[in-house]
Amino acid sequence: MTMLPQPSPKKLGLVIDLDTCVGCHACAVACKEWNDGGQFGPLPDENPYGKEPLGVWFNRVHSYEVTGIGNRESGIGKESTPPGTPAAARSQESGALGQAGSSRFPIPDSRFPAMTIHFPRSCLHCETPDCVTVCPTGASYKRAEDGIVLVDEDKCIGCKLCSWACPYGAREYSEVRGVMQKCTLCVDRIYNDSFEEIDRQPACVMACPTRARHFGDLGDPDSAVSKLVAERDGYDLMPEMGYKPVNKYLPPRPRRDGCSSAPPVAAEETMDLSNASPILRWMDRILSR
Ligand code: SF4
Ligand code: SF4
Ligand code: SF4
Repeated sequence: MTMLPQPSPKKLGLVIDLDTCVGCHACAVACKEWNDGGQFGPLPDENPYGKEPLGVWFNRVHSYEVTGIGNRESGIGKESTPPGTPAAARSQESGALGQAGSSRFPIPDSRFPAMTIHFPRSCLHCETPDCVTVCPTGASYKRAEDGIVLVDEDKCIGCKLCSWACPYGAREYSEVRGVMQKCTLCVDRIYNDSFEEIDRQPACVMACPTRARHFGDLGDPDSAVSKLVAERDGYDLMPEMGYKPVNKYLPPRPRRDGCSSAPPVAAEETMDLSNASPILRWMDRILSR
């Protein structure tokens, strides 16, 4: 068993905006590219150009179609959710976590049009993760200074206990290397003095074309990421597990129904050509096809 350090005031992590993520996978590819050449060793691929390229990915993007999403911004929250529904149960959970009176979760609600949600998934650098405590060799550890959860591959024996303990599916076993691997929060970028300060950010954050990914200290209430989480009702993934993830997700905003809110289409202009020349009438017929 591996002990966790005392909780650190500094909690580095990611904030991922599900409202603006377009599922382009740029973050996943940038992560792969950076970590292929980084200090933590290659991320091997098997049959990379085949139909089903396999291998280790620290960050994967999943896409789902959901019936409809309501949240606090839509005015559909804890109080207005019909009692006894799954949405009400989830609202109740968020209230139990100290958010009574507001829904921190996006709530499925069929009154809103269906939408596609793109969901990037990587290690959430939890505060109390069992993936660390189950490790029999001390290979999985949480850094006391900034809360980043890492794997020391020299100590890993590939027993996979940590991947069983992670409820988020964030750990990936390398069949080629025989060790467990996971998101490092780009620890070899964010403290890299040879980079300009503006580049000392995770590769996935730098690559995101819609700026759906943000990096910073979630332990500092005055940091830009903490303010963003407060403004946008950012929430924990599966808080009921008790792992206290540091990474936060910002809920998607409800989409408007394009049918009901679309501006009326202008009536087609017509001209009376009954008295026009035959050539003009012929041209009108050709151009009107
Ligand atoms: Fe561990 Fe999974 Fe939490 Fe990452 S997301 S710290 S691998 S439990
Ligand atoms: Fe990959 Fe770095 Fe982003 Fe983690 S922080 S998902 S290692 S690019
Ligand atoms: Fe979403 Fe940004 Fe990743 Fe593209 S790069 S999938 S928009 S988080």
